Amino acid sequence: MKLYVPFAQRVRLLSRLDLFLERFPGYIRAKYGTDLSRESIVVVTIDSLRFDVAQQAETPHIRALFRASASDGWIKVGSHGTYTLPSHISMFHAGIFPCDNRPDVPPPYNREKEKLFKAQLAWERTTGARFPTPAAPNIVRGFERMGYRTLGVGGVHWFNDRFITSDLWKTQYFREFHWKEDFSENCSIAFENQIGLIRKLRLDQEKRPVFLFLNVSSTHTPYMGFGRSLDGQKKALEYVDSHLPELLDVLPDRFLMLLLSDHGECFGEDGLWGHSFYHPSIMEVPFACIAYQRDRWLSERGQGGQVRV
Ligand SMILES: [Zn+2]
Repeated sequence: MKLYVPFAQRVRLLSRLDLFLERFPGYIRAKYGTDLSRESIVVVTIDSLRFDVAQQAETPHIRALFRASASDGWIKVGSHGTYTLPSHISMFHAGIFPCDNRPDVPPPYNREKEKLFKAQLAWERTTGARFPTPAAPNIVRGFERMGYRTLGVGGVHWFNDRFITSDLWKTQYFREFHWKEDFSENCSIAFENQIGLIRKLRLDQEKRPVFLFLNVSSTHTPYMGFGRSLDGQKKALEYVDSHLPELLDVLPDRFLMLLLSDHGECFGEDGLWGHSFYHPSIMEVPFACIAYQRDRWLSERGQGGQVRV
């Protein structure tokens, strides 16, 4: 029993020393592993996309991406928010992505089996995540402390960085954050505009690992004018899919892509329309983890740049 007290004190001292040393990037790299710290991460949220739309739409490029990375394809998981703000706060503040913890669901979609990210919390400082990050206000800042270049490209108006209620992404999360009206759901070529911006950021030549976030607004109401229906959102997703190769052209050669929806949408189920309230069509969302490598993607696309069927 006498030995226990000095041991506890030693743990406290080491813990304080650890907190002090984590102020230095070299210590962080040594502690959290240089290999992991070099892997770029690209998070793409396709706003309001329903699981059934993701499955049923004609998306040859997304399917080719799944094949090129031996991905499981779309997995149905539960969102942590009924609308854009809470869903993204959960992901980027706490590192808690949509999940389904039932035993038959594979990791990392099952967070009981594997956590991709985990913030160090007041009541639980340990981090057993695939991408451990040091103590920081949120996981994006944690990646910044690991030496990552952190960038966000907003889509829907919850990412309007010129408005005080929604400038938090620029002031509290991402070192570089970009939003324009032309990226929003009011613009029918928003995704192409976002790709044009990302091209200018020269990520293909970036030496640092990248943590990139992109919110795609095209699948949000008014669905590019295709109509307020399942079919309208399908057509909007097919537009996004048709420009996916252009996005991949301006990204790094390899990265882990997390392709998912922040919440779904109601199209008249139980008399309900839209989102921001509870309904299974809103809470059940598609999620795919994709280990992207440019050479495999190009090979899957085929020599003529066409997707093999
Ligand atoms: Zn949203």
